[in-house]
Amino acid sequence: MTENNIIDLRSDTVTRPSKSMHDAMVKAELGDDVYGDDPTVNRLEAVMAERVGMEAALLVTSGTQSNLTALMSHLARGEEFIVGSGFHICKYEAGGAAVLGSLVPHPLSTPADGRLDLNAVIAAIRPDDSHFAITRLLCLENTYNGVPIELEYQNKLADAAHQRGLNVHLDGARLFNACTALDISAQQLCEKVDSVSICLSKGLGAPMGSVLCGSGDFIARARRIRKMLGGGLRQAGIIAACGLVALEEEVPRLGDDHKNAARLAQGLATIDSLEISPMSAKTNMVFVTPPEERLQSFRDHLAEHGILTGDQSPTMRFVTHRDIDSEGIERVIDATGSYFHT
Ligand SMILES: *Cc1c(COP(=O)(O)O)cnc(C)c1O
Repeated sequence: MTENNIIDLRSDTVTRPSKSMHDAMVKAELGDDVYGDDPTVNRLEAVMAERVGMEAALLVTSGTQSNLTALMSHLARGEEFIVGSGFHICKYEAGGAAVLGSLVPHPLSTPADGRLDLNAVIAAIRPDDSHFAITRLLCLENTYNGVPIELEYQNKLADAAHQRGLNVHLDGARLFNACTALDISAQQLCEKVDSVSICLSKGLGAPMGSVLCGSGDFIARARRIRKMLGGGLRQAGIIAACGLVALEEEVPRLGDDHKNAARLAQGLATIDSLEISPMSAKTNMVFVTPPEERLQSFRDHLAEHGILTGDQSPTMRFVTHRDIDSEGIERVIDATGSYFHT
């Protein structure tokens, strides 16, 4: 819980850097990363590349910049990528791939569990014909809306893409939540993808930053694109230092966030007026639909009890993270009970 006793369920991005992160920022060895001189950035990139079992990695400012950098490194102007219409890359990145990259999205309908249909993916790959853009890349997302995609299914999609000459990019903004839920290593989850983007600033608690990983050649291209997109930073070791702490101290505790989400889902499920989505508490998110006419007053009631929720409707998303402990979860359940039972 934060100092002011607010329970902020809006997202796992609202966390403040931990004490160890503050200390690590102060102590970090620094240099100019555009010259490749920042030892802390170099260490984070090496550690992350090793974690996912890839040759190289690149620290970027955000997940959005990471995905756009990846797309522009995989595709040339006018080429096409297959993506879930509900995926972050397609829906929540302001159309950057089209606007800044001149890249063509080919959106497929996305089921609630984030598993793109294998046959739909295969059917979306364009034949060699001058009428069509060239299909180069399949984008996957794991976790999707807090739901982890099983390794076996992700691999099946990746194999299908590779057999047809496509590369595969994984938007793993919350990759370590997926690994924790599936009980597999990051290396296992990334074995069949060509690039992966991981956010340091979501459940891992760092103030900013994402890391893009891939082959040495891919990251060399990505480094130029990052510069083009304004993402070449100088003494970025102050961010990388937090990223290293995140890997050491925050990855191992993600299971607590998942347990808290499970307890929250269980507590809220006892309230008749609420519908809890079956996609809840697979990792750190719970999806709750109150009666439509009561949604705003329920949200206001929670806010009066120091509990902040996002503005989604008709289904509310509650996200657990390092700044919410089990006591906080009980407070949310109690405040919800007091609203619906009185
Ligand atoms: C948050 C998120 C991103 C983008 O990260 P930002 O740092 O907010 O730009 C990309 N993909 C997914 C799945 C995300 O959840």
